[in-house]
Amino acid sequence: MKAPPFAYVKPRSLAEAFELIERPGAKVLAGGQSLIPSLNMRLSAPELLVDITGLSSLKTITLEQGVVRIGALVTHTQLAESEPIAKHVPLLAQAVSHIAHPAIRNRGTLGGSIAFADPAAEYPACLVALDASIVVQGKAGERMVPAQKFFKGLFEVDLAPGELVVAAEIRAQLKDERSAFLELARRHGDYAIIGLAAYKSKGNRFVFFGAGATPVFARHASSATEAKEAVSLLKKDLNPPADLYHSPATKLHLAGVLLERAWTQLTTSR
Ligand SMILES: Cc1cc2nc3c(=O)[nH]c(=O)nc-3n(C[C@H](O)[C@H](O)[C@H](O)COP(=O)(O)OP(=O)(O)OC[C@H]3O[C@@H](n4cnc5c(N)ncnc54)[C@H](O)[C@@H]3O)c2cc1C
Repeated sequence: MKAPPFAYVKPRSLAEAFELIERPGAKVLAGGQSLIPSLNMRLSAPELLVDITGLSSLKTITLEQGVVRIGALVTHTQLAESEPIAKHVPLLAQAVSHIAHPAIRNRGTLGGSIAFADPAAEYPACLVALDASIVVQGKAGERMVPAQKFFKGLFEVDLAPGELVVAAEIRAQLKDERSAFLELARRHGDYAIIGLAAYKSKGNRFVFFGAGATPVFARHASSATEAKEAVSLLKKDLNPPADLYHSPATKLHLAGVLLERAWTQLTTSR
């Protein structure tokens, strides 16, 4: 099928973008890798597409005072090739190769993935595990939203009409901190059956994806002091929905397998 008719505009500045996205029937277009398929399947019929890919201020990765700021228009490929990300946010560097395949990674953006908030997507879980902030901006100014609060429900995020995701901010990983990323998918690059973003700082943060409507922070398992205890506590944290091929019980079992593997990675000194 083809997309329904729409008008198209490409603003040159953030101020212009904010004017345009306020219009009734307007929709933001970033990499188009989720939006365009949904238009072609007639799941959505916006009257106006506001293409933000000309906004160069949203395409940078910076490190200042121990905080890495990743612009919303940074593509998956840019992120995969970034030295500061590999060095200071290795969890994202590990996650990105699991996203789709190169053609999609060349266009898809961090901001698009965060705003779309697919429950099986990699970045949202990583950002919750990293205790990152999502930087949201509208005409009224900028606000910082903790990742854990930003993802509110199934494809539902803390974005008001007229607001854009402009960046994510993450504290750079310290020397004695560790991260691990594990995912099970039917084929490499497919959305996850279940996956785990894990971060070890003063304590552990285990965050599952493909396990609920939003990234699921496994609070009980994260407080455990050894792997077996963490796995046994998982049933208090997770109640994964069935998908076409896997029952909730299978997904819970697979989550435990990933958790044990992550525990080993986090506790093995490098
Ligand atoms: C075959 C296929 C496989 C895929 N596999 C995976 C996968 O394994 N894991 C994964 O995570 N993703 C996967 N994706 C999705 C891909 O990562 C997309 O790039 C991403 O979900 C959306 O980013 P985008 O820049 O393309 O956004 P778009 O498609 O342009 O936009 C997506 C949504 O976000 C909104 N939006 C975009 N940018 C912003 C912004 N800055 N502020 C506010 N709203 C915004 C748009 O209005 C739209 O509603 C796959 C896609 C395809 C087609």
